[in-house]
Amino acid sequence: MLMSRGTFDDVPLATLFPQLTPAGMEAMRVVAGTVDATRVKEDGPRWEWAPGHAVCPGPQPGVAVVLMADVIVHADAGDQLEFWLQVFWTEQGQIAVNAAVNVACWCETDHASHDIAELTLVVDEGTALAAAFTEGSERLVGWLVDPHDADYWRNRAALPPRWTR
Ligand SMILES: [Zn+2]
Repeated sequence: MLMSRGTFDDVPLATLFPQLTPAGMEAMRVVAGTVDATRVKEDGPRWEWAPGHAVCPGPQPGVAVVLMADVIVHADAGDQLEFWLQVFWTEQGQIAVNAAVNVACWCETDHASHDIAELTLVVDEGTALAAAFTEGSERLVGWLVDPHDADYWRNRAALPPRWTR
């Protein structure tokens, strides 16, 4: 899927999420500003979105990301620590918000990386998208106050630490 990139102001919210009310859109802009304010080192959050996923792609293997913030806290040749906030279609065709940590894999079998999903909220009649997006954003901002290192998150997910050589 082709992703567009830019600031949150560039995100075509009304196109991606036609169900959003003006108040919901405004709430998302406000909380996205708090995400944008969490500058970790030089690499602040970058927003990416998939215009082709504005409409549910239907049942499909895996998730279809509509909008995401990607914050890279640490990336070098050997290791990686990234924080994600994603709005996506589930395999069942429901829209959901997910705040997750992604770390490089140091397992004996190389999986490249691991998503440590910490919060997933399915948007339905009981949970509005703007509310779920706000909760996910707050979780992300909370992590970024103290992002730790990749081994901290691997340990939390019972994954092996980086090899010491
Ligand atoms: Zn692994």
